[in-house]
Amino acid sequence: MKKYFLFVAIVLPLLHEIIGVYMKDYSLLEGNDVFKNSYFKKHEKLLVDLAHNGQHPKALFIGCADSRVVPDLIIDTSPGDLFVIRNVGNFVAPYKPDEDFHATASGIEYAVSALNVSEIIICGHTHCGAIASLYMDLDDKAMVHTKKWLTLGDKAKSLAGLALGENAETETLLRLTEKLSIVTQIENLLTYPCVKSKVDAGEINIHGWLYDIEDGHIQFYDPDETSFKTLKA
Ligand code: ZN
Repeated sequence: MKKYFLFVAIVLPLLHEIIGVYMKDYSLLEGNDVFKNSYFKKHEKLLVDLAHNGQHPKALFIGCADSRVVPDLIIDTSPGDLFVIRNVGNFVAPYKPDEDFHATASGIEYAVSALNVSEIIICGHTHCGAIASLYMDLDDKAMVHTKKWLTLGDKAKSLAGLALGENAETETLLRLTEKLSIVTQIENLLTYPCVKSKVDAGEINIHGWLYDIEDGHIQFYDPDETSFKTLKA
């Protein structure tokens, strides 16, 4: 009780002093009323069950942070189905345990070792800004982390250049880089010992997907034929 009092009387006013000035726009929050009164009411049993019994997602979905790629929307899944990691470019940095803060790595470890997912999906998409940025000069000081992060796409860029040559059309080059990046991120994913051992044991399946934002289709990577294919319904 005393701790709660301290929080309300001292910590909250201090926090308000520091960050309150940046938090005056509540317009995005208004959608929560719509959600509570429609989706939440309609699916209340599932959502309350997930609250009481915890989450047991089947899949880890690693997708791009792009606002046009909404995981539950594009594969018609529900809360509790997917453990989601989204970042710029749906990149996976190779395993590197050190003192830095590795958000994507932490998400992978948690999904694999704590939640025991059986599927890992790396989902790229067409017209990806991160992939396009691989072909631009990014010397803006405000993008220092992004510049470093985008180097995770360098291998895909090199492979696409090798495959298509110097005179490739830009759109063709970008579409191929988007696909090759998914394959190279799978390669990086397999550097995680917790992932590799479960894949070897047949406990985890890895999927490489490409979501086409122009028509809503998802193509999947077929490692036997080293090509992307469309799932026939
Ligand atoms: Zn993207």
